[in-house]
Amino acid sequence: MIRYTLVCDEGHRFDGWFRDSETFEKQAERHLVSCPFCASEKVTRGVMAPHVARSRREDAPARLRQMIKELREQAVAGTEDVGDRFPDEARAIEEGDAERRPIRGRATFEEAKALLEEGIEILPLPDLPQDN
Ligand SMILES: [Zn+2]
Repeated sequence: MIRYTLVCDEGHRFDGWFRDSETFEKQAERHLVSCPFCASEKVTRGVMAPHVARSRREDAPARLRQMIKELREQAVAGTEDVGDRFPDEARAIEEGDAERRPIRGRATFEEAKALLEEGIEILPLPDLPQDN
């Protein structure tokens, strides 16, 4: 037995149980399937795909936001915030002038580019889009 979500031409949705898809097609063809709300015999299997596709698209930013949030939380929990001193501190660590430890902070695009060019490994921490 398989359960189908059926929809009539009035847009009513209801569940129907059928032995298999062929059985449903045959019963629908012979108008043996009718809507329990309006008795319409114009019943089709509810096409869920467009709805699913739309909701998945809408979920994608939420999932991405959650991933970024967790990434940020992990990065924040495991690093020391050195704020605007980040470029200097990163260089100091690289040169052995400061304790080697994971740090986070702010750098301008130019500063970050310079650090990378000096071979200092840094990673941008993605900003969270504002919640609406
Ligand atoms: Zn109906």
